[in-house]
Amino acid sequence: MRKSLFFIFAALSIGTARVQAQDILAAQSPLDKQMELVDSIALRDMLLNEENMFPAQELYSEWSNQSVRFKSEMPDSFRIDLTGFVMPTTNTRITDVFGYRRRRGRRHNGLDIKVQKGDTIYAAFDGKVRITSYQRRGYGHYVVIRHNNGLETVYAHLSKKLVIEEQNVKAGQPIGLGGNTGRSTGSHLHFETLFCGTPLNPALMFDFEKQDVTGDFYMFRKKQYKAAIAGEPKYHKVRSGENLSVIARKRGVSVNTLYRLNKMNSRTIIRPGQSIRYQ
Ligand SMILES: [Zn+2]
Repeated sequence: MRKSLFFIFAALSIGTARVQAQDILAAQSPLDKQMELVDSIALRDMLLNEENMFPAQELYSEWSNQSVRFKSEMPDSFRIDLTGFVMPTTNTRITDVFGYRRRRGRRHNGLDIKVQKGDTIYAAFDGKVRITSYQRRGYGHYVVIRHNNGLETVYAHLSKKLVIEEQNVKAGQPIGLGGNTGRSTGSHLHFETLFCGTPLNPALMFDFEKQDVTGDFYMFRKKQYKAAIAGEPKYHKVRSGENLSVIARKRGVSVNTLYRLNKMNSRTIIRPGQSIRYQ
């Protein structure tokens, strides 16, 4: 809905000049030919427009503001161009890194950088704003941008958003102000880098402490990525009534594996709410 309205509007405004030029041609042809010409021009303009309107279309089949993780088929390999990157914040202190946390019992999908409330947050690359929204129990005020290089970036816990959906942005353009909204303790920027809807570790590409990229490009390889995911630790949050054999059965591992991964033995007492590593 949103997309088609925008797209028709843009097609009309861009199409006008061409249709005018073609009107002369059309006027010289018989009526049925005239109609054919007008239709094909309008159609061609719409298709051309569609092609150029949304970033990284070779990777993403759709443009939608429905979900942050907009899953699409990952290519076997893809060269992500990192030139033109601008740090989203001038702050350099990392307060939490990407990956599984025993404390959280789940994966942290981004990087947390300390910012003060009101600090300006900048777009990392050129692109187009896909989502601006609010999640009371999650991201708080947040912005998602799809970039021409195929990456998407997420900026969360903002105190204020400075862009709107479908707005084109340049790298370094202010997109929001730092804050502490949503599920957050203390003002910070939660920064995610998504590729085909999957979070990649931002540290593979950016060095916030040095305020620079790790190279001119990052070579994404699906096999490498899958292998890294397969080896990641996984945690089970203990519910009341569960013991290690129940958890082992539920997770399809042996009790000995749980002993080994958690430095436990048959005398260890576990309590509800505790995170038990099972992979
Ligand atoms: Zn975070």
